Parts: sequence; structure tokens; C-alpha cells
Amino acid sequence: MSEDLIQSYSTKDLSIATICSHTALQIFHGARQEGFKTIGICRPERKELYEAFPYGSPDEFLLVDDFSEILQSEIQDRLIDAGAIMVPHGSFVEYVGPSRILEDLRVPTFGNKMSLNWEGNRHQELKWLSDAKLRLPNKFEPHEIDRLCIVKFHGAKGGRGFLLVSSEEEYHQLLEKSLKEGKISRLDADTAVIQEYAIGVRCYVHYFYSSILNRLELLSMDQRLESNIDELHRMGSTRQELAKLGVDPSYVVMGNIPMVLRESLLPEVLALGERTIESSQKLFSPGLTGPFCLEMICTPELEFIVFEISARIVAGTNLFPLGSPYSCYLWGEAMSTGRRIAWEMKEAQRTERLGEIIS
Ligand code: AMP
Repeated sequence: MSEDLIQSYSTKDLSIATICSHTALQIFHGARQEGFKTIGICRPERKELYEAFPYGSPDEFLLVDDFSEILQSEIQDRLIDAGAIMVPHGSFVEYVGPSRILEDLRVPTFGNKMSLNWEGNRHQELKWLSDAKLRLPNKFEPHEIDRLCIVKFHGAKGGRGFLLVSSEEEYHQLLEKSLKEGKISRLDADTAVIQEYAIGVRCYVHYFYSSILNRLELLSMDQRLESNIDELHRMGSTRQELAKLGVDPSYVVMGNIPMVLRESLLPEVLALGERTIESSQKLFSPGLTGPFCLEMICTPELEFIVFEISARIVAGTNLFPLGSPYSCYLWGEAMSTGRRIAWEMKEAQRTERLGEIIS
């Protein structure tokens, strides 16, 4: 980002902008708490939703038919004139795409856009998490499958169509079935990743790395509710019996529930976050800043296997608009991830360090 743009922003009344989806209510709510004006980039049919929640509604709507319109020159100029800083969230990254955010989005964006690219590329993500010395699920080639594995497809949105297999034969059988039913494309099949199915309890930890305070904060954690996998046990059937009934497992996120960890596990969880940040600083300087989430499984031996990173605000943080069982000990007041982002911006502008937290 140009020095001129940073300069012009450093004295401007800034506003916080995002796409009206995912964590937008929380982001606008938090921005308002810190005194920012807010701009919601919204599809006409969604406006009503935000208006139904006045404290989570943006001050100004910028209506678009397609979210990719935010890359149009006039819209970007309008946002820059308004001193907008974009907050990228899951839908933002999905609709616009990490490479277009990196290359074509001129509007200053909270955090380091490079981290979205590293997260979005499977090889780079693996390099990052391995470099951070996190324990990752073992990877298998089809002929090596000797235990329960999860087969992930790159094109599969939100866990739809993932397969559970426990042998090479089952792998080929289910892959062919998914192809025949049009659930996956040939490209999906060719680029599928086979991962050991980690057995334990899932845990999605929400961190915030502050370059302004030079510290890692553990803000909250959640557990995702995924349909239908989270309720399949109620049928009391084996995988094979479910398959005969035509019930395939899927991992489509439909909500989130709050969680806390045994206090004795917190040092390890903090260390995982610290190593992730250190490694990001080494791999793509200045590294990740702002919110991120490590998705992990805690085994019965109380070890954490990390299967994914989200290098941005995650939807599980929506549980804590008024703070969490961890953020209250850090801040002594109701600090959500949305508000934390706004606080960081305010402090960065006050101390003339905006260039360190936007890209
Ligand atoms: P992902 O798209 O990688 O976030 O995975 C979607 C969901 O699949 C996760 O939220 C977990 O419920 C499940 N999952 C992914 N990877 C694994 C794994 N290696 N072991 C067990 N469950 C997993």
C-alpha cells in the first residue's frame, strides 16, 4: 500500500467497512463501541436483516448485486474517500478470493493480506503449520490407508461431500460414487487430500495477534455445529449401516456453541498460537496480524492435532459480542473480536502506526 494512502488515512476520520455477511453484525457492533462510522457492502435482499438489529447495523449501506463489485474502481474510490478500512471475513474471502484481495483491492484492509493467501493455498498452509511445529494429522496416499481417514476436496464448500474411508478399496468405491452423483468434479477427485481422522474433541481457538501491543491474545473459543455429522450418533448406526440407508456424513457448518478448556491446557494452546505467529513472521514478513483461528482436535492424551488455520475473524467469535470467558481477563470489559479489531485501528491511528496493521 502506498505511503501517500497511509499518510492520508493517518489524519482522516476512519470508517470500518465489510461485506454484510458472516461476522458483519459483530464487526459493526464492535466498531460502533469504539466510535467508528461503519459501511456495510450489502446485497439489497440482505439489508432488512441488518436493519432488524440496530446495534449491529452499519451506518451506511453500499448496495451491490454481486460482492465482487467492490473491486470496481468507482466503489473502491468511494470507500477510500470515506476513509474506509476493510475487515476481511470468511464470506469476504470466499466471494472475492484471496488473490484478487491481494492484487486488486486498493482499499486498505485490516491485517496482512498475504496471510489470506497463505491460508488459501494448501501447500503454503501446510508449510506454515509445519514450520510452526504444530502436530498435524498424518497424510496418506490411497494405498497407505490403514485407519479411519477423512478425504477432503478443495472445491467442496464448507465440508460438503467429505468422505470417511478406512481402506483403499473403500476410498475408490466412495470416490467413484461421489463422481457419479456429481457431488465432486474430476478435478476435486484428483486433488483430494487424505488425512488421518483425528479422534478426540474438536476445539476452534480464536486468537488475536496485536502488533501494536506486541502480544498474542486468546480471545475466545467455540465448537462448530456441523450437519449432519454432529447428530448422526443419535441413529445408533455404524458407518456402513448409514451408507446402506443412503445417509452420507457431511460437515456443513450450521452454527457454533461456546466452549472453555481445562485451565491446565491453556499454556499449550497459547504456545501453539505463538509458534503460528513466529512462523508467519519468518515466512511472509511482517507476518499475520489481527484475528486468526486454529482448528484442532484434543486427543484423550490431551495433545492437540491442528487440522486447519483461518487467518481472519471466524464465525465462532459471533458467540461473544459482549466478551468471552477469556477476553474478560485480558480486557476487564466486554471485548469481542469485532471490537478488538476496532480498538487496534484506533490505537494504531493514535500512535501513528496505521501502516503496521493495514495492507
Ligand atoms: P475443514 O474444512 O478442514 O475445516 O474441515 C471441516 C470439518 O471436518 C471440521 O470442522 C471437522 O469437524 C472435520 N475434520 C476436518 N479434518 C479432520 C481431521 N483430520 N480429523 C477429524 N475431523 C476433521
